[in-house]
Amino acid sequence: MPLAARVVLATRNPHKLLEVSRILAEAGLGVHLVDLEGFPDVPEVAETGTTFEENALLKARAIALATGLPALADDSGLCVDVLGGMPGVLSARWCGHHGDDAANLHLVLDQIAELPDTYRSARFVCAAALALPDGRIELAEGVLEGSLARVPRGGNGFGYDPIFVPDGQVRTTAELSPAEKDAISHRGRAFRALIPAAARLLS
Ligand code: IMP
Repeated sequence: MPLAARVVLATRNPHKLLEVSRILAEAGLGVHLVDLEGFPDVPEVAETGTTFEENALLKARAIALATGLPALADDSGLCVDVLGGMPGVLSARWCGHHGDDAANLHLVLDQIAELPDTYRSARFVCAAALALPDGRIELAEGVLEGSLARVPRGGNGFGYDPIFVPDGQVRTTAELSPAEKDAISHRGRAFRALIPAAARLLS
């Protein structure tokens, strides 16, 4: 890649731009990643899919078409075994409205409060998609297995991080540093898995 390809990340969330930029740079993919802040006319893409893959593809395809640039998108969430894999794609709106991290997390804690520790297994899942304006697509998934703490701990991260303890750890993902979380996270794994195909498509 002589010049770093300009790639749009389908988000208006600066934290996500930072996180994905960090993961891609660390893995050696030299792209110039921008978010949707520079594209005020691009409409919001509704996450109407029932799987992470569907939603990631929906967003990447729509943004590639709308901007005429290669687009990266992800969709992620928390899947709790005893809740049949939910909140899943509803993770950001589990409490009934969008984006209230504290209410979402406390609802999940309440729903499984009476259960013994053996029923607290869960995983973070992330689907990452790359779409080109000519219709070519690539998709990858990353998973982080773990279990749910009974009381929130830690001030880093977002969402369900204060109650998620990765397998083999005693700290929650909110107690890990950003670099420690990137190294094992579902998002880190999904984007790193996408890199070989992305390097090929963007060269
Ligand atoms: P989205 O992929 O940005 O739509 O995220 C969906 C929701 O899943 C977030 O609002 C969080 O509630 C949850 N989630 C996804 N990834 C993480 C994570 O790394 N830590 C904690 N919560 C997460």
